[in-house]
Amino acid sequence: MKAEIIAVGTELLMGYIVNTNTAVVSQKLLDMGIGVYYQQVVGDNEERLVEALKLADSRSDLIILTGGIGPTRDDITKFVVAKYYQTELIQDERQWEKIQSYFASQNRQLSETDYFQALTFSDGTSFFNEVGLACGSALHLEINNKSKVVITLPGPPFEMEHMFDHYARDYINAIFHPNSVIESLYLNFFGLGEAQIAIQLDDLITSQSKPTIAIYAKPKLVTVRLTANAYLAQQAQALNQELANIIINRLSSAFLGYGQNYTIEEDVVQLLIQHKKTLSLAESVTGGLVLESLTDIEGVSKVLKGGFVTYTNQAKIDLLKISPQLIEDNSVVSPQVAQAMAEACIKICGTDFALGLTGVAGPDTLEGHPVGQVFIALAQKNSETQVIELNIPNKPRHVIRYQSKNEALNLIRE
Ligand code: ATP
Ligand code: MG
Repeated sequence: MKAEIIAVGTELLMGYIVNTNTAVVSQKLLDMGIGVYYQQVVGDNEERLVEALKLADSRSDLIILTGGIGPTRDDITKFVVAKYYQTELIQDERQWEKIQSYFASQNRQLSETDYFQALTFSDGTSFFNEVGLACGSALHLEINNKSKVVITLPGPPFEMEHMFDHYARDYINAIFHPNSVIESLYLNFFGLGEAQIAIQLDDLITSQSKPTIAIYAKPKLVTVRLTANAYLAQQAQALNQELANIIINRLSSAFLGYGQNYTIEEDVVQLLIQHKKTLSLAESVTGGLVLESLTDIEGVSKVLKGGFVTYTNQAKIDLLKISPQLIEDNSVVSPQVAQAMAEACIKICGTDFALGLTGVAGPDTLEGHPVGQVFIALAQKNSETQVIELNIPNKPRHVIRYQSKNEALNLIRE
């Protein structure tokens, strides 16, 4: 089953209007387990719209057009589709009444072409426009025992989305997924970028068979969503799990866990609770970001004792009792200082684990250390302290701090 979207509008080709409709419809279809194979943009021109439609007709089962169903002479979408599929256009009475009463309420005269907006395919289904004046219209054809569906939606994004959510989704599901349920499974990965994951899953993504795959990125945390439909929820879940196993196998070292709202913070807190371990923090470069992100999680008070934000050298000396000599000898951005911060924290707070973070968020270098260099120490009671070095060049401050936070939390997970 292949879907295709045609966005109609010369303003889109000229770049005055960003084509958000196509992205929105693509995501909605993917949510339904339907893969979008092609997208086209075409101007308000009959000849070229026919060409686009012909191409879409030759390769896609579901064709969704947005735009060009308004009241002006250049709004030709329904006329072109009707002509191409040899159907008539008739008046949707309910929509026509809405148009007339709207004009009456505004004390305005109807123009010669306002009735365009109430036109719908005679052997199709009309989608009433609750938030605008132009109705949508859908055609369902059976060609060689296969369903072909063509839908016209309005151009204005709010109307388009409203009509999709209130009419088009159910219509499409009734034809292509009768009696089926849709299930999604979310996989979260750490340490690989969206692009790297996309490359490694390229064959699976391009085949776009069941389940469909969507990739979302936050800095360093990437979520892969699998969506399948089947007659039974269990079947859909099994399809998702089967593909999930393949993906996790491929990206095993980067796999964090399942769940739509998964966060690394949640995971760390659950792990600490499970193992009855406590944590404290000494932050410099992240300025309390790690603490902040952890305190967002319910139940964290069971495992998080507290921490220090020691931004200046003096604060590190005064609050954490780090020796000025150590800072002098090694620079404040050093594995030694990160280690000393974490170990001081364990001593003061009496926790099982402590993190120490020091680094350069930029934009200026610090004591000869480049922007993006960060040292993170994980100290453990009765065990050796582990220190890692990050180099995150050419990134703004907030990204360096955010990634440092994630890497620090990931250190605990390991
Ligand atoms: P109208 O009744 O407003 O004429 P219409 O269905 O004929 O609606 P268009 O005339 O093609 O739609 O577009 C109307 C407006 O909707 C555009 O000027 C633009 O602001 C917005 N629009 C149209 N297509 C898109 C799109 N693909 N993405 C985002 N916005 C769009
Ligand atoms: Mg228009």
